Amino acid sequence: LAVSNLMLRDRLKYLVQTDRLTELYSRSYLDEKIGYSMKSDEKGVLVLIDIDDFKQINDTHGHQKGDDILIQVARVIQRNIRDQDVAARWGGEELAVYLPKAGLNAGEMLAERLITLVSEYTDPKVTISGGVSHWSQDRPKSLSTLFKEADIALYNAKRNGKNKFMTH
Ligand code: GH3
Ligand code: MG
Ligand code: MG
Repeated sequence: LAVSNLMLRDRLKYLVQTDRLTELYSRSYLDEKIGYSMKSDEKGVLVLIDIDDFKQINDTHGHQKGDDILIQVARVIQRNIRDQDVAARWGGEELAVYLPKAGLNAGEMLAERLITLVSEYTDPKVTISGGVSHWSQDRPKSLSTLFKEADIALYNAKRNGKNKFMTH
């Protein structure tokens, strides 16, 4: 009984922490990780990612193919981050990567790399836009402010023609 309880607990933990489609982390797990990092690290960067014109992909190729694209994008992200980084599904077609202990530059380099790689490794091809925000001990901010800033930057990237990232 003890063993099966342990297995159930692990399984439950996995289900709560993981997005079923992409197998990235869930939004609540990401929130938790950032909150923890803000208490124990000196700095961190958030990269918010949104697939460009995704509605059109669904309309042209079907919802199933759309799901498949989401998985492809998630794989590209997962293969290009460090062990300590947290990649999560933030919303429907919005993904996020948090880099604990990293400076703004590292976040921008990752965003740039992902934009290139996603357009190379997705079929049918999609592009992504990104918004980057950061905090540091000199510039502490709340979790919601960090997200809001990344979201504003993402919005600006969309407005400026998509397939690019902007920094707050
Ligand atoms: P933009 O470049 O401005 O981001 O345009 P967009 O079409 O990507 O944005 P919009 O917000 O208009 O549409 C998002 C689409 O993402 C609509 C919704 O059906 C699709 N979507 C969200 N979650 C999923 C999902 O889990 N699977 C699939 N296949 N589609 C999804
Ligand atoms: Mg969106
Ligand atoms: Mg989109």
